Amino acid sequence: MDLDALLAPVLATARAHAAEVDAEGAFPRHAIDDLRDGGLLGLTVPVEAGGLGAGPHELVTALSAVAQACGSTAMVYLMHVVAAGTVAAAPPPGRPALLRQLATGEKLATLAFSEPGSRSHFWAPTSQAQTDNGDRTRLKSRKSFVTSAGSAGVYLVSTLTSPELAPAAEAPVPVDVFAVDGDTDGVVVAGTFRGLGLRGNASAPMTFDLTAPDTDRLGQPGSGFGLMMEAVMPWFNLGNAAVSLGLAQAAVDGAVAHTSGARLQHLGETLAQLPTIRAQLARAGLELETTRSYVYTTATSIATADPAAQRQVLGVKAVANDAALRITDIAMRVCGGAAFSEHLPLERHFRDARAGGIMAPTADVLYDYYAKVLTGQPLF
Ligand SMILES: Cc1cc2nc3c(=O)[nH]c(=O)nc-3n(C[C@H](O)[C@H](O)[C@H](O)COP(=O)(O)OP(=O)(O)OC[C@H]3O[C@@H](n4cnc5c(N)ncnc54)[C@H](O)[C@@H]3O)c2cc1C
Repeated sequence: MDLDALLAPVLATARAHAAEVDAEGAFPRHAIDDLRDGGLLGLTVPVEAGGLGAGPHELVTALSAVAQACGSTAMVYLMHVVAAGTVAAAPPPGRPALLRQLATGEKLATLAFSEPGSRSHFWAPTSQAQTDNGDRTRLKSRKSFVTSAGSAGVYLVSTLTSPELAPAAEAPVPVDVFAVDGDTDGVVVAGTFRGLGLRGNASAPMTFDLTAPDTDRLGQPGSGFGLMMEAVMPWFNLGNAAVSLGLAQAAVDGAVAHTSGARLQHLGETLAQLPTIRAQLARAGLELETTRSYVYTTATSIATADPAAQRQVLGVKAVANDAALRITDIAMRVCGGAAFSEHLPLERHFRDARAGGIMAPTADVLYDYYAKVLTGQPLF
């Protein structure tokens, strides 16, 4: 697979539409179409299911490249890839074609986990499923943010397991995850999204009020928590870190280009020839390099099932999210009024970078969990 060649048209489209996606809060349809046409929506889906069979390294490379071009596109892409990986881990028996549909991009997927009741604690839905007629489940949940709301073809919806069904395994929270098609009666986009950044993400609230066949459940009753920890979190955390990495890279590139070109004519030098500016650029560049190393180290640990992977999966998102905050902040600072007045795309990267750390699991929750692992305490 020549990932660079597959990515080239996507990046060109994402770059061309990024400003408009941001200014108008428009869903990045064109770039997502290109991802689908290039087979990239199936990036990590196994080849036998119609995907490209790529691993964590390729995911980091693809997402960070897309994020450099357009943060909104990258986050929509990430949610799809993670949803597809979750379906691959526990395919719903009633939907044998679903994984292939996600691999080919016939359906765009996303996660509908966060609820107003449990906020960023995505693993603990408060909505309660009820068994209906023995082999169907009543779902009634309100979700607070769903990326690609209204544009996805399938939503992975979490809920507390019906009390009538014994959880398959002991878990801190008995959770079920159902695959629900976007055109099902009772699937409603219940608000709009107008975020500080990632404005094309359509991360709007949704309600799900429907009866689903039990065969649309991913895995056994009560197994959703394990699925979230084992199938969702490693890929989501790594991919979210990659998006932060891409935004940080774009900020450094933009800051270097601007400070190298902007001249102080009366002194006969550029901004980059000022030692204070260079010191700031050094901080940004070094933090970018160390973050990239940690992100790829984590990708290797996941790919090789290294015992360090569990700890690194917790650390990588927090590290990259916070690095992107600092790096985009430096870029804004060294580019001065040109950045502040939107003459450069840097303020978009600055705003987009603010989303990563508050997406669940949030950076602060991850620091807490990382330290729990360090000190041998249970996570839940
Ligand atoms: C752009 C965007 C896209 C999103 N897309 C999706 C999606 O596709 N699907 C989905 O399910 N959700 C999605 N979300 C929701 C997201 O994952 C979080 O659930 C949401 O941002 C939480 O917001 P809140 O205000 O409810 O957070 P709160 O839970 O109220 O958190 C507020 C603060 O408290 C901190 N905090 C909370 N608990 C702890 C703790 N135990 N220890 C330390 N600090 C803590 C948090 O870190 C945060 O700083 C998205 C959010 C955004 C912003």
